[in-house]
Parts: sequence; structure tokens; C-alpha cells
Amino acid sequence: MFGLIGHLTSLEHAQSVARELGYPEYADQGLDFWCSAPPQIVDTIKVTSVTGQQIEGRYVESCFLPEMLATRRIKAATRKIINAMAHAQKHGINITALGGFSSIIFENFNLQQIRQVRNVKLEFERFTTGNTHTAYIICRQVEQASQKLGIELSKATVAVCGATGDIGSAICRWLDARTDVAELLLVARNQERLQTLQEELGRGKIMNLEEALPQADIVVWVASMPKGVEIDPATLKQPCLLIDGGYPKNLANTLQHPNVHVLNGGIVEHSLDIDWRIMSIVNMDVPARQLFACFAESMLLEFEKLYTNFSWGRNQITLEKMDLIGQVSVKHGFRPLLV
Ligand code: NDP
Repeated sequence: MFGLIGHLTSLEHAQSVARELGYPEYADQGLDFWCSAPPQIVDTIKVTSVTGQQIEGRYVESCFLPEMLATRRIKAATRKIINAMAHAQKHGINITALGGFSSIIFENFNLQQIRQVRNVKLEFERFTTGNTHTAYIICRQVEQASQKLGIELSKATVAVCGATGDIGSAICRWLDARTDVAELLLVARNQERLQTLQEELGRGKIMNLEEALPQADIVVWVASMPKGVEIDPATLKQPCLLIDGGYPKNLANTLQHPNVHVLNGGIVEHSLDIDWRIMSIVNMDVPARQLFACFAESMLLEFEKLYTNFSWGRNQITLEKMDLIGQVSVKHGFRPLLV
């Protein structure tokens, strides 16, 4: 059995979902209540591969909300993730993806030091960040969507916002080694990590976001921002492709401009309907078929019986691992979202 640990994007979102799912006792509560709410399994999932194989999974709602980080409720945030992991393990789930901010909190606050959660000794090999598949899917979105829009990578400048992150650094490695992209702009805040990445790649220009945006033909958004940024389309090149892989979204406003194309990044579409209700809750356009690539990674590991923490730690995603997860992604009927 596979598992997905997820969270909602804001307190407002959480309250409306609680109302919709029939948990009225959660619907009118503020952040403090969510800080003390325990994890819950709220969905049972059945997925069929195009090979005919069928698997079953569970969705674990951690009750983490990005506002917990914004208001420095760090202890509550870390407790949410560790408790959700213990909950998944206690329910016999073999491989669970840590969606959205779950793996970021796990890494940033060194949660690998916590092995014992009440009577559960956490077995980290039962968890994956899902970041290898996410990075692979975003790279394929860059390649395929740019082609559709007539943006030639060999002449294009690609800015990666969140370049030094786990997903961002893997995307930079892929774009450098597997494409003929003309120019890479590396955007993040910590200069030391940016320089280390630049040395590893042997290329790329370090820039802040304001400098990078007007120069980029393609912007890949994979920054861990609890709240998105407002972008004025007039500051962008035209045409311009924005691939927003953040969860919550890196882009706060809806950009409506004929030559600015925004693509939902890190999202896959399955060839067959999935029996679940969780993706309608996070407002996917086609909830029976579309899902986060990190969640799909735990499905793929379950299909392949690869019970290992396939994506783990930080900045360790190799091109070989992206190839491997990419092959099984295609084999089981997933494809990158392109519209
Ligand atoms: P990491 O924590 O590993 O990396 C985050 C990156 O963002 C770092 O480079 C960080 O560098 C940068 N960053 C953070 N804040 C800012 C800012 N204000 N401006 C510019 N850069 C910033 O995160 P992940 O790679 O694990 O995840 C990245 C995003 O992808 C998150 O939003 C996450 O929720 C989402 N995600 C989506 C998935 C999907 O399936 N679609 C799956 C997993 C994650 P610095 O701190 O130096 O600025």
C-alpha cells in the first residue's frame, strides 16, 4: 500500500475544505486549533496502471498549514509532519510521499533526529520526498511546452527561481546536461549555496528575481515560499513561459496576458481515472486524472515494489535516478501536464 502526506495551502482553504468534507468542528476554527489537530486518513485511493496492475493507497492529512511557518509556530509545524509520518507507518503503509512543505520542514528542521514518536519507531525507508519525479516532470514540461510555444531552447534564457533547492538544483543539472539551453539564470537568496551550484554546473548567472525576470524566456518556479509573489506581466519578455511548480503556488496573482503562458508545474496526468476525491479538494482541473508528481512517485514505487526512500536528503537527485523514475512514469501511464 502507498501513502500520500499532504496539507492545504492556507487557513482559509483548510476551513472551506473541512466544511466540504463534513468536519464542521474544524471549519470555524483558527490557526491555534489546526496547530493542535492530529493527522487523519481522509481518503482511500485505487490506482490502475496502463499495464493493468492495481494498487491501493491512503491520503494522510497532516493538518500543517503554511501560516504556521509565517507566524513562527515551528514546533507545531514539525509536530504535524512527524505525527503524520508515524500515523502512515502505524497504518501499515509501505511507501509514503511527503508532499509540498512536508519534506521541506523535515529537512530544514533536521527531523531525521527524531526516530521515536510515542510507540512508533520511524522507518525512514518507508518515505520518499517525491522530488526526483517532480524534477523530472518539470524538466519534461520545460522541453515540451517550450516546443509547443515555439521557444527554442538553444536560443532561450531559462531562470530557475529556487535554483539551489532540492528540485531546483536537479532541474538545473538536467537543463545543463540534457538540453542545449542557451543561458541559465540561478535565483535564490543564499549567495553561498548559489555559488556552490554555479561551480558544480560550471555555468549559470546568479541573479535576484527582479533582474532575472525581464531577461527570461522561461521561468521555472520552485521556491519554497509560504506565500506567492505578485508579478506584473509588463516586466516579462514576450512570449514568456512560466512553469509554477510551487505548492502553495509561487505566483500569487493570475496573469492574463496573450503572450505570457502559465503552466501548472510538477503536475502529471494519468491515462486512467483514479478512484479518489482528494484532488478535487486541491482544485485540480481534472481531479480524477491530475495529481502532484511527488504523490505519483509513491504510486510508482508501489507499482514497482521499490520499497525504498528513492528521493531523500537534499541536492542528491541524479540524472540516472530521474531517468529511472521517468521510465516507470511512462510505463504506468503518467505524462506531464501541458495545458
Ligand atoms: P527546497 O527547500 O529544497 O528549496 C527551496 C528553494 O527556494 C531554495 O533554493 C531556496 O533558497 C529558494 N527560496 C526560498 N524562498 C525564496 C524566495 N523568497 N526567493 C527566492 N528563492 C527562494 O524546496 P523543494 O525543492 O523541496 O521544493 C520547492 C517547491 O516545490 C515548494 O514550493 C514545494 O512545495 C514544491 N513541491 C512541489 C511538488 C509537486 O509535486 N508539484 C512536490 C514537492 C515540492 P534560499 O533559501 O537561499 O532562497
